[in-house]
Amino acid sequence: MANRFDERGFLVIPDPRELRRERREKKEAENKVIVVKSAYCPNGHDLMWDYASFCGYAGIRIGAEKPNGEKGEIVLSPIFGDHSRISLGIKLIDGEKLKLFCPECGAEIPVLTKCENCEQGEIRVLSLARNFDIANGIAFCDVVGCPSSYIVDSGELIEQAYLEG
Ligand SMILES: [Zn+2]
Ligand SMILES: [Zn+2]
Repeated sequence: MANRFDERGFLVIPDPRELRRERREKKEAENKVIVVKSAYCPNGHDLMWDYASFCGYAGIRIGAEKPNGEKGEIVLSPIFGDHSRISLGIKLIDGEKLKLFCPECGAEIPVLTKCENCEQGEIRVLSLARNFDIANGIAFCDVVGCPSSYIVDSGELIEQAYLEG
């Protein structure tokens, strides 16, 4: 407890505005987690793939199947807010909903919630920890070209769904 009283003997209490500012700054700092370093399928397969590089960071490789049955892979940027994406073996067409699965074991990438930014999209989630944890993950819409088809924090989406619910 340092300086509970100032030099004139007045009790020093924390300024609520100061506290609010500190809290806001802390929140902003927490939001600066900008690059995903790990992403796992429900069976614990590591999906980071350094054969594709996004500003020097490894991409997130996911198996994808188009509505016409063509199968390939997509590689998402690991950088939050970055819309760049690579497709391997399939041509992506805006508005098409993809089946997404682990390229190692074929497990379907789990659905977190319905997408709010497109008609038929579902938000898929990958875990940041090997032991699959939906709350500690990253999420993205499975419809090509949807504004939500790049990665966001799944924890935030869960919080949002909770608040709206
Ligand atoms: Zn897998
Ligand atoms: Zn969507």
